[in-house]
Amino acid sequence: MEILGFIENSFVDWDGKVSAVIFLGGCNFKCPFCQNYPIVKRDKLLKRYKANEILEYLKNNQKFIDGVVITGGEPLINPGIFDLVRNFKEEGFLVKLDTNGYFYFNLLTLIKENLVDYVAMDIKTSLKKYHKAAGRKIEISLIKDSIELLKEDKVDYEFRTTLVPKLVTIEDLFSIKEEIKGAKRWVLQKFVNQNAKSKIYQRIEPYTKEEAENLLSLLKSDGKIKEVYLRGY
Ligand code: SF4
Repeated sequence: MEILGFIENSFVDWDGKVSAVIFLGGCNFKCPFCQNYPIVKRDKLLKRYKANEILEYLKNNQKFIDGVVITGGEPLINPGIFDLVRNFKEEGFLVKLDTNGYFYFNLLTLIKENLVDYVAMDIKTSLKKYHKAAGRKIEISLIKDSIELLKEDKVDYEFRTTLVPKLVTIEDLFSIKEEIKGAKRWVLQKFVNQNAKSKIYQRIEPYTKEEAENLLSLLKSDGKIKEVYLRGY
């Protein structure tokens, strides 16, 4: 397992918390709009961080840091994730996981063993278009299983969808909403085209604030999801 990024203090990666953020290398998806592609492909130029040094930093700054956000890449591709989060939990830190939801069994283990306090799972688009968003063929039942697992509400969570025009249309959003109905929280994130992996996606303009607010009001109208809101606008 390689730690390829580390932010000492963040106020934006976990709503309401001060967190440190750790980026684990590698991912099983190849999303064309990915913002973290150097992390995904474990770029040789990226600095490597040692887990024990990060833990030491956290212990020395425990007064100011509520928790650790583990992101990537896809953190659950790494078998070492369990020991890593155990170390953080043993020192009293909360742990948030960002995941694409594909490693259902790893997610289940983290939840069962109380190793995670908050899960943010991507729902990239409607299930029928998922392969386009993920950039590969996928076994969609694993995504569905993770959705159902989080809806059991054994751990606090959010589903989140990046509003990538064309890939995520209003029809896709209604389809996602049906798939996750009854969920506690769904966050619609602004798409940032600047560092997108694919040149085609670099040229796609994000939805404007007005367009995003219109989408939000259509999705919120029937109350099927308890909380739905925009992030990044
Ligand atoms: S799942 Fe996330 S990290 Fe992996 S390729 Fe897609 S956007 Fe990038």
